[in-house]
Amino acid sequence: MNILVINCGSSSLKYQLINSDSEEVLAKGLCERIGAAGSCLTHKPAGKDQYYVENPMPDHTVAVQMVIDALTDKDHGVVASLSEIGAVGHRIVHGGEKFASSVLITPDVIKAIEEVSDLAPLHNPANLIGIHACEKIMPGVPMVAVFDTAFHQTMPPKAYMYGLPYEYYEKYKVRRYGFHGTSHDYVSKRAAEFLGKKREDLKIIVCHLGNGASISAVMNGKCVDTSMGLTPLEGLIMGTRSGDLDPAILEFIANKEGLTLAEVTNVLNKKSGVQGLSKVSSDFRDLSKAMDEGNELAKITLETYCYRVAKYVGSYVAAMNGVDVIAFTAGIGENDGRVREMVGQYFDYLGASIDPEKNAKRGEEIIISKPGDKVTVVVIPTNEELAIARQTVAIVK
Ligand code: AMP
Repeated sequence: MNILVINCGSSSLKYQLINSDSEEVLAKGLCERIGAAGSCLTHKPAGKDQYYVENPMPDHTVAVQMVIDALTDKDHGVVASLSEIGAVGHRIVHGGEKFASSVLITPDVIKAIEEVSDLAPLHNPANLIGIHACEKIMPGVPMVAVFDTAFHQTMPPKAYMYGLPYEYYEKYKVRRYGFHGTSHDYVSKRAAEFLGKKREDLKIIVCHLGNGASISAVMNGKCVDTSMGLTPLEGLIMGTRSGDLDPAILEFIANKEGLTLAEVTNVLNKKSGVQGLSKVSSDFRDLSKAMDEGNELAKITLETYCYRVAKYVGSYVAAMNGVDVIAFTAGIGENDGRVREMVGQYFDYLGASIDPEKNAKRGEEIIISKPGDKVTVVVIPTNEELAIARQTVAIVK
């Protein structure tokens, strides 16, 4: 069965068409600037030339139609008609407490996603637009919602409660939810398989270090803690997000800079993290280059970033009373050997160390700790689209 995986943002739509039997990506692409001037589609069919077209996309329904047209086009298409698309898997950012696993999309599910939209006001409404657009263009094709938060729903209250008045939880469901769940689930499962073990028998820490970054503690196959919170702002220092900080900073900066609370929050989301701290870039390639060129602030930024990762790893070792496997994944975790090495310098107490030769490799599943180490450190490339396709098939079959 061919599964169309959709990741819908407010002005963008990323897609992949995956054959669920061979797990081959038949095509992938991206619609950008939906609803704005200069909207365009970039379509990459497997084994054929990339196709790029600028075309007005006033809304997501037009974007979905363009994706279907590209997928079924006689030159750059990969299927003959819409009937060859068996199901659609939608990435949904926030499932609140309602969804602990993926579900078939029904009118009740759409209502429930709407109800938790105030927990992710930038993401869930966009995800819903994608669902409605597919309903219009592909009526009758089953759709599945795969939630970023679902894998973390196994966290116990001691891991998800904030030290706030309990009524905020009762009234508004203010608690920690965690994100990147599809990746944490996929990578912890793959890490166990790769090592020839059962996930149910292991204590695994997954470091998903991408532009957004989060860490999770996965004990006996279940998530017991993760670093993101009510929103994806909590936890690690990220590309442009601050991660953890003293909440009193918000009022302090608002007063000093004459900003509203919303403006300070915007700074924490979009102008902080390694970009804000280094004054260089949110991209670790730029940061590393600047450090090599003697930029002291870039060096401090990288050290601060890695120190925070190492502290979270330590706290999850405490939470699980040990760890068997530490897995690095996502853009930085998979590609940046320097970050892995710098984080690994804090692993002495665990009886683990990073092998420089293995750590220099890229793009493959690999053990980067030394033989005989007490804790195994691995790199596992994540694949959220494949995970979404797998979950979609499991539900529609
Ligand atoms: P992601 O959000 O998982 O796509 O990760 C994107 C981030 O990964 C980029 O912003 C870079 O900081 C980082 N990245 C990607 N490729 C490399 C690389 N070759 N070396 C270091 N960092 C990389």
